[in-house]
Amino acid sequence: MPLLEADAVTKRYGTETLALNEITFAVQPGEFVAIIGPSGAGKSTLLRCINRLIDITSGDIRFDGVSVPKLRGQALRHHRTQIGMIFQHYNLVNRLSVLENVLHGRLGYKNTIQGILGLYSEQEKREAVRILEMLGLEEQMYKRCDQLSGGQKQRVGIARALVQQPRMLLCDEPIASLDPSSAKIIMDTLREINRTLGITVLVNLHQVDVALHYAERIIGINRGKILYDGVPQALSNAQ
Ligand code: ADP
Ligand code: ADP
Repeated sequence: MPLLEADAVTKRYGTETLALNEITFAVQPGEFVAIIGPSGAGKSTLLRCINRLIDITSGDIRFDGVSVPKLRGQALRHHRTQIGMIFQHYNLVNRLSVLENVLHGRLGYKNTIQGILGLYSEQEKREAVRILEMLGLEEQMYKRCDQLSGGQKQRVGIARALVQQPRMLLCDEPIASLDPSSAKIIMDTLREINRTLGITVLVNLHQVDVALHYAERIIGINRGKILYDGVPQALSNAQ
């Protein structure tokens, strides 16, 4: 069974903007999919519909066979913990430490109380430390996030997503604010997470060359429509 199914998904903002126009595709567990398209194509809207940061206008999205638009309360919270979000601008709490930001992922994005380390069990802290070590951030653990480089901030973003033990990572332009060498580290990290932990990855990119290099499958969208869905090789031959 697919992990994710989008079935004629349409999203309008107001009456003017048709951001997604009957998008249909399915993603199997363990896939690494790049979503490419120019600015305004609908990539970010698509990811936000999948984890229900926003509601779709019509169609259906199923995650693990469950219809996402119908989820409420605890079931919606559970859905969101199964999906880790990675953002272009990291969305970290700058005045908190790296470790606090990562633990914080378990509380949800909106909770920003200080001194939160005391709220967590030793086991939760050990798990956060283990993930930070895995991502090469052991020396940054007690630094405030605003003291980090962009590439380090994005690794904190990935660590925060991983402590939730997600089944899928949705990455919205994760390298768009990074220099080429940091971008490579982040893309290598996402690929490694996909291969070793088996976590399904959907990543929005506007750089076609990066998508061709990393993805097993590319979905090309423009003006809210899927224009291409297939292996990178066929796309690069068509160019
Ligand atoms: P991409 O991520 O590919 O750049 P977006 O999903 O951000 O594309 O945007 C798709 C379209 O929807 C664009 O025309 C954009 O201006 C519009 N849009 C995105 N978010 C909103 C919003 N919150 N309200 C109104 N229009 C929006
Ligand atoms: P970023 O790339 O930094 O995430 P976005 O361009 O996606 O920035 O937009 C940031 C915010 O503005 C989002 O909440 C998005 O929904 C909103 N937004 C984007 N385009 C529009 C639009 N045309 N009208 C209203 N809100 C928009």
